[in-house]
Amino acid sequence: MSQPSPCLNCGACCATFRVSFYWGETDDSPGGLVPQHLTEQISPFLSCMQGTNQPIPRCTALMGQVGEGVRCNIYEKRSTSCREFAWHGENGLGNEDCQRARARHGLPPLPDVLERIPIVAA
Ligand code: SF4
Ligand code: SF4
Repeated sequence: MSQPSPCLNCGACCATFRVSFYWGETDDSPGGLVPQHLTEQISPFLSCMQGTNQPIPRCTALMGQVGEGVRCNIYEKRSTSCREFAWHGENGLGNEDCQRARARHGLPPLPDVLERIPIVAA
């Protein structure tokens, strides 16, 4: 059974970090998906989501209220950096950056990942 995602009523990471990725992921490049008009080029090789390259970041594609109810307006077209950012505890792995983003928005930490102990039949 898959674990319920805490992200649907969080969104803190989308409003904490600069969300950057290889510029070739934008849809003006062959095979790119991320809508180019929602991005900003920050180096010869990197773009970021608009709104995240500022002192108080908030991705332009983030809809809703952080800590209440959110959704990504380009979910199917989001960058690899978004796809690879796991919530603390997803698949049994920790992510301190997730915890840090939640703390920045006054949200409680997610439970620490418990080591899975295999159950051996007697
Ligand atoms: S900070 Fe963590 S829980 Fe919140 S949306 Fe990001 S990955 Fe999900
Ligand atoms: S593109 Fe979507 S998942 Fe990525 S930072 Fe923006 S709102 Fe969050």
